[in-house]
Amino acid sequence: MYFNKKDKLISFDDVLLIPQYSDILSRSEIDTSVYLTDSFKLDIPILSSPMSTVTEAHMSNAIDREGGLGIIHRYNKIDFQCKLISYVSNDQKKAAAIGASGDYKERAHELHKCGTNIFCIDVAHGHHILVKKAIEHIKTNYENAYLIAGNVSNGKAYRDLTEWGADAIRVSVGSGSICTTRIQTGHGVPTLNAVLECSEEKNKMLSEGIECALIIADGGIKNSGDIVKSIACGADLVMLGSMLSGTKASPGKIMLKDGLKYKAYNGMASKTAQKIWKGSYSSIEGVSTTVKYKGTASKVINEIMSNVRSGMSYSGARSIEEFKEKAIVRLQTPSSNNEGNPHIFNRK
Ligand code: IMP
Repeated sequence: MYFNKKDKLISFDDVLLIPQYSDILSRSEIDTSVYLTDSFKLDIPILSSPMSTVTEAHMSNAIDREGGLGIIHRYNKIDFQCKLISYVSNDQKKAAAIGASGDYKERAHELHKCGTNIFCIDVAHGHHILVKKAIEHIKTNYENAYLIAGNVSNGKAYRDLTEWGADAIRVSVGSGSICTTRIQTGHGVPTLNAVLECSEEKNKMLSEGIECALIIADGGIKNSGDIVKSIACGADLVMLGSMLSGTKASPGKIMLKDGLKYKAYNGMASKTAQKIWKGSYSSIEGVSTTVKYKGTASKVINEIMSNVRSGMSYSGARSIEEFKEKAIVRLQTPSSNNEGNPHIFNRK
């Protein structure tokens, strides 16, 4: 057993970024683009989660229009997932999730046939031999495909998945807003901590001359400030579930309750989601809920990105790379964190 009592895990609310001199006059001067390969660029560093209440074709198309990328979930029959992929506009990249066991080879084959060029090996514990084999399978059979894998939570796992062939890696375990993994299994690492450790390993690998996978902060991102903190700490991209749930483009019907509109948001390992896609359930590691209807994904993404640009401007940075270099991150106390939330309401 390894236990260093001084080595604590930190999360988004444990840090703040320190404002710095800026000569940026308008948010329009700020470039938020990220290169996934030399010829594949996203204008905004946002991916939507491969979840049945977040990403099907509507979300893929909506997020593509804003410059990000949607990954069609895999909790369905193969022909249905192919149909969803066929609805994704032609003139854009088609990204879809697969597993690392069961029907994943056949799924990848059919998805590739209908134009999928980005695969996401979507499993809870990515530092696993089955993921190694799945990465090898995709890289051998679909040479030009871009490959996202995960989730991992530490530097060793980041290095291994990079060496196995992943192009981008989803980082954090047990952080999602609908996740109960830490309660059920006692395992996990907060997203920001995992990003920091993977980013440290990435820098080490770059200095060794190794080409590195991009880091995707995935899970537990609850506001635009968390996106800004993720990037400051080394994430190249962020993946959003709850923040994009409840939008017009997210799958599912609008429900009315007491005159208010809601949509479902289900953890993929929740009892509800498992019953919907396979008719039974086992190893529940998530919950299902409803979230308030938020309007169009476009409106939500624009609000998020406007705040992200403001965040970069507070650090005086015009690009993501400049922001990562300049950002000054400091730990904060719980009372500092409380002060950061509107506190007028608690006064007597
Ligand atoms: P959120 O953005 O905090 O809502 O987290 C979304 C992320 O949670 C997804 O991208 C997955 O990595 C993860 N996730 C999705 N479903 C489950 C689940 O049922 N249990 C645990 N994690 C999940």
